[in-house]
Amino acid sequence: MKRTPTRKHTKDQRVQRSNIRRAQASGKRRARAQSQKVAATGVADVPPSREETAVLPSAARRWFIGLTLAVAIAGVAIVALQHAPHWLSSSAQAQATADAGLLEATRAAAVATADANRVGIVSGHRGHDSGAVCDDGLTEAALNFTHATRVAEVLRAEGYIVDVLDEFDPRLRGYRARVLLSIHADSCARINDLATGFKVARAVHSRAPEAEDRLVACLTARYKARTGLRFHANTVTRDMTEYHAFGEIAPETPAAIIETGFMYLDRPLLEGRPEVVAQGITEGLLCFLRGEAP
Ligand SMILES: [Zn+2]
Repeated sequence: MKRTPTRKHTKDQRVQRSNIRRAQASGKRRARAQSQKVAATGVADVPPSREETAVLPSAARRWFIGLTLAVAIAGVAIVALQHAPHWLSSSAQAQATADAGLLEATRAAAVATADANRVGIVSGHRGHDSGAVCDDGLTEAALNFTHATRVAEVLRAEGYIVDVLDEFDPRLRGYRARVLLSIHADSCARINDLATGFKVARAVHSRAPEAEDRLVACLTARYKARTGLRFHANTVTRDMTEYHAFGEIAPETPAAIIETGFMYLDRPLLEGRPEVVAQGITEGLLCFLRGEAP
């Protein structure tokens, strides 16, 4: 059923229309004021953008950026200070390592120089047994020691560093030198008239055959020339060519063994003129050390 408009109803409608008109008038006034302001200043009072409303006002923003930068710089400085001792110690450590390396190189060079200037002389049987013994008690060990110490004296006078080693000297293990010579003498038994002369040998399985052959040649030639003894080649035994020290010393150390003579027939030379024996040995060694032709 259709409702008939009441007086109250029509009054409400009038109030509504009046409110709309007031609102429209107010909007027009605002628009007018805005256009007047634009005309006067050329700047519209546009609403702030979303970005601008999201951040702080410009003065506060500058403060904030300044503070952030200050904190970041302080942070970097603190980290730097915290790590500085480490960097310093790393640097000091690197320096220490370099110094140690240099020291080691210097030491190695000094050792190499010393090795290059070093001569080893094994005094046969010394510190182990007497070796051959004569009826009157003269021992090979005693003769060998006399010869070895004299050789050492002469070589030292020539500027070499000389080690006089025992037969089984612990220093023989890995021994490094320009040359090693073991000094022995032959039996004191009266074998026959041929039991006279000297012998020189190197390892049967030489690790430096060229150098050791030259060493043997030098010793043989110079000792023979100095002493007048003959080379007793046919009595070179395995005791000589498989001499124990050959396998103990450093492979780069050339080595040989000499039997200076027979203690019975050659006794006048070995015991009576030890300086000649020593001179013959020394000249043989110097021939080798100086690279001279045998
Ligand atoms: Zn011996």
